[in-house]
Amino acid sequence: MEYDKTINKENIKKFKAHDIFFDTENKKFKCVLCKRKVAISDSSSITGYFLICNTCTYEKFGNYAEARKWQKQEMDEFMKKEVYRDTDSVIIEEGK
Ligand SMILES: [Zn+2]
Repeated sequence: MEYDKTINKENIKKFKAHDIFFDTENKKFKCVLCKRKVAISDSSSITGYFLICNTCTYEKFGNYAEARKWQKQEMDEFMKKEVYRDTDSVIIEEGK
């Protein structure tokens, strides 16, 4: 499945940088599939990687387990390419 690679990088960076567990309702992330703004409590990701909203989880995958499978597959590919190193150079613009 195609996903937005730029949004993915931004999510990873934000996930690392913010107190996400104390601020779960703010829509500071974006779904890598539909690009809508989403709060951490209404999404799932692998520590910020391949973050998808709950709507996409059910509309595109049918259930959480299938969505998780996709995230893990993409994660494997991602780590193989070692593109995760690029995430350190992502600049976060607050409020977008
Ligand atoms: Zn979505």
